[in-house]
Amino acid sequence: RLIAGSTASPQEEGEERALRPRQLAEYVGQVKIREQLEIFISAARTRKESLDHVLLFGPPGLGKTTLAHIIAREMGVNLRQTSGPVLERAGDLAAILTNLEPNDVLFIDEIHRLNPVVEEILYPALEDFQLDLMIGEGPAARSVKLDLPPFTLVGATTRAGMLTNPLRDRFGIVARLEFYTDSELSHIVKRSAGLLEVRIEDNGADEIAKRSRGTPRIANRLLRRVRDYAEVKAQGIVTSPVADQALRMLDVDAIGLDLMDRKLLLAVIEKFGGGPVGVENLAAAIGEERDTIEDVLEPFLIQQGYLQRTQRGRIATALCYRHFGIVAHPPGRE
Ligand code: ADP
Repeated sequence: RLIAGSTASPQEEGEERALRPRQLAEYVGQVKIREQLEIFISAARTRKESLDHVLLFGPPGLGKTTLAHIIAREMGVNLRQTSGPVLERAGDLAAILTNLEPNDVLFIDEIHRLNPVVEEILYPALEDFQLDLMIGEGPAARSVKLDLPPFTLVGATTRAGMLTNPLRDRFGIVARLEFYTDSELSHIVKRSAGLLEVRIEDNGADEIAKRSRGTPRIANRLLRRVRDYAEVKAQGIVTSPVADQALRMLDVDAIGLDLMDRKLLLAVIEKFGGGPVGVENLAAAIGEERDTIEDVLEPFLIQQGYLQRTQRGRIATALCYRHFGIVAHPPGRE
């Protein structure tokens, strides 16, 4: 699986870490977010205060984790990383919070999946750097208040709409990451090729870029696969034709859709007469989790105009029909 949300091997994860930009200046694209962060970070540093809490949202692979690490680095502090589902009990979060040093960054990935009990103790921690804990049970139970060092929470989520309002309201900086342009992705591919010592021509990088679903993680992943192909078939040099052949072999089509994307779109057209079809029915039809459809597959297809999300369900657009060379029946004929 090539899509952004799929699990990578430990070796791939290692390589991905190695490709992460470490400074804001190295972070490609997302210009508005970068400009804002530059100002807020510089101001916080001058005042020797912690940075305001930051919420990053957007589809997987767009650079949320990378940005969290960069924020900590630019602030000159440590980063502690955890995720919503991992923090099962209030004590799990308390243990992390009480071990932070002043102005540290706490990064919580998938923050929309926090246990409500944990979320509850996070509120005063975010607001007043205080922890309200219940110790013991039954009649012996008592509440204790602990002071925490000032810290910055960086929360990441695929969908801001899944956050509770009180949690969302506690972030001073809210940034939505956008899909990257082809030229930004080409830049990322060339940078990664340099780090991985892959010989690549400009048009080879462009070819990979335009077939990466607007997503740096996918661009890097495709680069590694194309590199393998080039080493075996083309003396290790990634040209545009070599990239094209390799990507065809990987079932990535001319506009970057992979097997799952095509399966989803074709299901809407062929099994549901072009829609509207509810996401649950669609999930059942293609044997995919609803969350994967909503978080990983759909955002790019909607952004590119192949799919529409309406009150009544998903609809395949005229562009989608054209992409597959299928003639659309007038609605209502079925
Ligand atoms: P997310 O946390 O949103 O799922 P990551 O931060 O893990 O995404 O990014 C995935 C990979 O994509 C990283 O390893 C990094 O190499 C690359 N990447 C992401 N954003 C950028 C960027 N703006 N510039 C360069 N590389 C990036």
